[in-house]
Amino acid sequence: MIDGWICGQWDWSIEPAGVEEVEDLRGLLRICQGVILNNEEDVTWTYDPSGGFSVRGVKEMVVLKSYVTPDYNFEWNRLVPKKVSFVAWRALLGRLPTFDALVRRNIPVASNMCPFCGEVEETVEHVFISCGLAQSMWSVLA
Ligand SMILES: [Zn+2]
Repeated sequence: MIDGWICGQWDWSIEPAGVEEVEDLRGLLRICQGVILNNEEDVTWTYDPSGGFSVRGVKEMVVLKSYVTPDYNFEWNRLVPKKVSFVAWRALLGRLPTFDALVRRNIPVASNMCPFCGEVEETVEHVFISCGLAQSMWSVLA
């Protein structure tokens, strides 16, 4: 280490070969360029009861850091069939596989337009509220 920068030579048992391995190495080097070491005491990893670093500990940290308390409580109704409740619950969480959700997850779709009207992007709001088909169904139910 010189002036906080990591220096050294590679000691490969097998040289990186192929486009994927070379790209992985370049990606690693890009990440390491931002790392500056100092003489401060290391931060203790506290996410694993054993005190060591583990995938389990990383998973626990991700869950703890990413958990967001919802602004609402979903009211489950025993009179509504469970599968209907689950669809409503998943819709509120934005977890239905609508075309816009699939596109956000980089899942290829032929078109993200509503398959019923073809006028706008298929979203949870559109499918259940603003689509002409949904509105005609709501008018029959009301
Ligand atoms: Zn529509």
